[in-house]
Amino acid sequence: MSTDSDADDGTRGTDAGTDDAESVDTDVLFEEGGTSGEATAPIADGELLSVSDLRVAYGKVVALRGIDLSVDEGEIVAVIGPNGAGKSTLADTVMGFLDYEGSVRYRGQEARERSVNELVEEGLIHCTETRDLFGYMTVEDNLTLGAYRRSGDVDERLASTYDLFPRLEERADQDARTMSGGEQQMLAIGRALMGDPDLLLLDEPTLGLAPVILEDISDAIEEMRAEGVTILLCEQNVTFAMNHADRIYLLENGSIEREGTPEELRGDEYIQEVYIGG
Ligand code: ATP
Repeated sequence: MSTDSDADDGTRGTDAGTDDAESVDTDVLFEEGGTSGEATAPIADGELLSVSDLRVAYGKVVALRGIDLSVDEGEIVAVIGPNGAGKSTLADTVMGFLDYEGSVRYRGQEARERSVNELVEEGLIHCTETRDLFGYMTVEDNLTLGAYRRSGDVDERLASTYDLFPRLEERADQDARTMSGGEQQMLAIGRALMGDPDLLLLDEPTLGLAPVILEDISDAIEEMRAEGVTILLCEQNVTFAMNHADRIYLLENGSIEREGTPEELRGDEYIQEVYIGG
């Protein structure tokens, strides 16, 4: 669904690519609990997100058929599955965009009881499949908007984002719509990081990306992992998901069909045959 030209609207995502994720000073991007200064709700047992018997329908089209999953603090959890499996529906529901039945608890509180703004204030940041950039605004303005819930250290975070994704700094004054698809994805991820996520929902970050950009995104994800950012990664690229996730859920036609570590799923005959090949 992502195109190189649909960079218009939304506020949650930034994109960045880096040639060197090792030599950067990104501490300010990943500081503990550094949101807008508001205290966030404590979480029991490190469980940041808990989804149980989640059912979502678009009219007569049932997209999620009663799924259970959880994400603990510091984990990278991937939801893999083919087109139409329900991955974006899951991310959109967690972010509070869709009505649902069942339970979606972020920081122990039911998502439907809070507004999207409140969820963002609590550190839930969504980098959507369509990127939602402001196409007629510059790269830097898009990044700055990502930090709207923060106060004070925006310049510092911007510098750290540029350290993580140097390509964005080179293009700071360029309109987002004129960036390549891969650069837009970098901008979308970078903008999400400007919001200082406690839980980052990353929807199809690799869609349509050239291998060289994929490497940049991979480096960035590992940098985030090293700094303890928790990520729910919705991803069709099974190899990419297996390379980065601590745990994986396979979603097919709105149902979770498998779950386990990458090692466990690599050994699963069905996953081998259908998703890995050979
Ligand atoms: P993709 O990777 O292709 O985006 P996905 O796994 O993210 O797929 P969803 O976009 O969540 O899947 O779609 C799940 C199901 O819900 C599909 O059958 C889709 O056609 C349907 N669907 C999604 N959005 C809507 C909508 N706004 N109105 C009606 N049906 C929808």
